Amino acid sequence: MSDELRELYQEVILDHGREPRNFGKPEAANHHAHGHNPLCGDKVTIYLEVENDQVKDVGFEGSGCAISMASTSLMTETLKGRSIEEAHTFFRRFHDLMTGSEDGAGEEVDEEAFERLEVLSGVREFPMRVKCATLCWHTMEAAVKGERTEVSSNE
Ligand code: ZN
Repeated sequence: MSDELRELYQEVILDHGREPRNFGKPEAANHHAHGHNPLCGDKVTIYLEVENDQVKDVGFEGSGCAISMASTSLMTETLKGRSIEEAHTFFRRFHDLMTGSEDGAGEEVDEEAFERLEVLSGVREFPMRVKCATLCWHTMEAAVKGERTEVSSNE
Protein backbone atom coordinates (compact mmCIF):
# COMPACT_ATOMS: atom_id res chain seq x y z
CA MET A 1 0.00 0.00 0.00
CA SER A 2 1.39 3.41 -0.89
CA ASP A 3 1.94 6.02 1.81
CA GLU A 4 -0.59 8.28 0.12
CA LEU A 5 -3.27 5.62 0.17
CA ARG A 6 -2.46 4.79 3.78
CA GLU A 7 -2.87 8.44 4.72
CA LEU A 8 -6.15 8.70 2.88
CA TYR A 9 -7.40 5.58 4.66
CA GLN A 10 -6.39 7.02 8.03
CA GLU A 11 -8.26 10.21 7.20
CA VAL A 12 -11.46 8.29 6.48
CA ILE A 13 -11.16 6.23 9.67
CA LEU A 14 -10.54 9.32 11.80
CA ASP A 15 -13.41 11.16 10.14
CA HIS A 16 -15.89 8.35 10.76
CA GLY A 17 -14.48 7.74 14.25
CA ARG A 18 -15.00 11.38 15.19
CA GLU A 19 -18.32 11.84 13.47
CA PRO A 20 -20.07 8.50 13.18
CA ARG A 21 -22.87 8.32 10.62
CA ASN A 22 -26.27 6.87 11.55
CA PHE A 23 -25.63 7.20 15.27
CA GLY A 24 -28.81 6.65 17.25
CA LYS A 25 -31.76 4.33 17.22
CA PRO A 26 -34.04 4.53 14.17
CA GLU A 27 -37.63 5.02 15.32
CA ALA A 28 -39.00 2.03 13.44
CA ALA A 29 -36.20 -0.37 14.36
CA ASN A 30 -37.51 -3.92 14.72
CA HIS A 31 -34.28 -5.87 15.24
CA HIS A 32 -31.36 -5.16 17.50
CA ALA A 33 -28.41 -6.83 19.17
CA HIS A 34 -25.65 -5.84 21.56
CA GLY A 35 -22.01 -6.54 20.92
CA HIS A 36 -19.04 -6.31 23.24
CA ASN A 37 -15.35 -6.68 22.56
CA PRO A 38 -13.73 -7.26 25.96
CA LEU A 39 -10.22 -7.12 24.48
CA CYS A 40 -10.63 -3.41 23.81
CA GLY A 41 -13.79 -2.41 25.66
CA ASP A 42 -15.81 -1.59 22.54
CA LYS A 43 -19.57 -1.76 23.02
CA VAL A 44 -22.09 -1.40 20.27
CA THR A 45 -25.81 -1.88 19.78
CA ILE A 46 -26.97 -2.30 16.20
CA TYR A 47 -30.54 -1.42 15.29
CA LEU A 48 -32.18 -2.50 12.07
CA GLU A 49 -35.49 -1.75 10.50
CA VAL A 50 -36.10 -4.77 8.31
CA GLU A 51 -39.06 -5.01 5.99
CA ASN A 52 -39.59 -7.54 3.21
CA ASP A 53 -36.06 -8.85 3.68
CA GLN A 54 -34.64 -5.42 3.15
CA VAL A 55 -32.69 -3.15 5.48
CA LYS A 56 -34.84 -0.06 5.37
CA ASP A 57 -32.89 1.68 8.08
CA VAL A 58 -29.93 1.01 10.31
CA GLY A 59 -28.41 2.84 13.23
CA PHE A 60 -26.21 2.23 16.23
CA GLU A 61 -25.34 3.32 19.73
CA GLY A 62 -22.27 2.58 21.73
CA SER A 63 -18.74 3.63 22.47
CA GLY A 64 -15.30 2.35 21.74
CA CYS A 65 -12.05 3.00 19.97
CA ALA A 66 -11.80 4.94 16.70
CA ILE A 67 -11.55 1.73 14.66
CA SER A 68 -14.71 0.20 16.11
CA MET A 69 -16.70 3.42 15.71
CA ALA A 70 -15.41 4.01 12.17
CA SER A 71 -16.12 0.44 11.16
CA THR A 72 -19.66 0.62 12.55
CA SER A 73 -20.29 3.95 10.87
CA LEU A 74 -19.03 2.65 7.52
CA MET A 75 -21.09 -0.53 7.91
CA THR A 76 -24.33 1.38 8.48
CA GLU A 77 -23.67 3.48 5.38
CA THR A 78 -23.02 0.34 3.39
CA LEU A 79 -26.09 -1.58 4.50
CA LYS A 80 -28.84 0.99 4.28
CA GLY A 81 -31.26 -0.04 1.56
CA ARG A 82 -29.63 -3.44 0.93
CA SER A 83 -31.33 -6.79 0.97
CA ILE A 84 -30.63 -9.11 3.92
CA GLU A 85 -28.91 -11.45 1.48
CA GLU A 86 -26.54 -8.68 0.41
CA ALA A 87 -25.91 -7.80 4.06
CA HIS A 88 -24.80 -11.40 4.73
CA THR A 89 -22.53 -11.33 1.69
CA PHE A 90 -20.96 -8.05 2.79
CA PHE A 91 -20.41 -9.62 6.20
CA ARG A 92 -18.59 -12.64 4.72
CA ARG A 93 -16.52 -10.55 2.33
CA PHE A 94 -15.57 -8.12 5.10
CA HIS A 95 -14.69 -10.97 7.45
CA ASP A 96 -12.44 -12.40 4.72
CA LEU A 97 -10.81 -9.01 4.24
CA MET A 98 -10.04 -8.77 7.94
CA THR A 99 -9.02 -12.33 8.73
CA GLY A 100 -7.80 -13.85 5.47
CA SER A 101 -10.57 -16.46 5.58
CA GLU A 102 -12.41 -17.36 2.40
CA ASP A 103 -16.02 -17.64 3.55
CA GLY A 104 -17.24 -15.18 0.95
CA ALA A 105 -14.75 -16.03 -1.80
CA GLY A 106 -16.33 -15.64 -5.22
CA GLU A 107 -19.46 -14.01 -3.84
CA GLU A 108 -20.36 -10.83 -5.61
CA VAL A 109 -21.35 -7.63 -3.89
CA ASP A 110 -21.57 -4.02 -4.98
CA GLU A 111 -17.82 -3.69 -5.45
CA GLU A 112 -17.85 0.08 -5.35
CA ALA A 113 -19.48 -0.01 -1.93
CA PHE A 114 -17.12 -2.75 -0.80
CA GLU A 115 -14.09 -0.67 -1.78
CA ARG A 116 -15.16 1.93 0.76
CA LEU A 117 -14.81 -0.71 3.49
CA GLU A 118 -11.30 -1.48 2.33
CA VAL A 119 -10.07 1.61 4.18
CA LEU A 120 -10.05 -0.75 7.17
CA SER A 121 -7.84 -3.35 5.50
CA GLY A 122 -4.74 -1.99 7.28
CA VAL A 123 -6.20 -3.30 10.55
CA ARG A 124 -5.25 -6.83 9.42
CA GLU A 125 -1.68 -6.05 10.41
CA PHE A 126 -2.79 -5.65 14.02
CA PRO A 127 -4.51 -8.88 15.09
CA MET A 128 -5.58 -7.35 18.41
CA ARG A 129 -7.59 -4.73 16.52
CA VAL A 130 -9.33 -7.02 14.04
CA LYS A 131 -12.11 -7.65 16.57
CA CYS A 132 -12.61 -3.90 16.88
CA ALA A 133 -13.40 -3.76 13.17
CA THR A 134 -15.51 -6.92 12.96
CA LEU A 135 -17.56 -6.41 16.17
CA CYS A 136 -20.30 -4.40 14.45
CA TRP A 137 -20.62 -6.95 11.65
CA HIS A 138 -21.03 -9.87 14.05
CA THR A 139 -23.55 -7.81 16.00
CA MET A 140 -25.46 -6.97 12.82
CA GLU A 141 -25.64 -10.69 11.96
CA ALA A 142 -26.97 -11.41 15.45
CA ALA A 143 -29.54 -8.63 15.07
CA VAL A 144 -30.78 -10.00 11.74
CA LYS A 145 -31.05 -13.54 13.07
CA GLY A 146 -32.51 -12.50 16.39
CA GLU A 147 -36.15 -12.39 17.11
CA ARG A 148 -38.03 -9.55 15.67
CA THR A 149 -38.72 -6.98 18.33
CA GLU A 150 -42.04 -5.43 17.55
CA VAL A 151 -42.09 -1.74 18.19
CA SER A 152 -45.41 -1.12 16.46
CA SER A 153 -48.62 -3.08 16.57
CA ASN A 154 -50.39 -1.13 13.83
CA GLU A 155 -49.38 -3.47 11.05
ZN1 ZN B 1 -11.47 -1.31 19.81
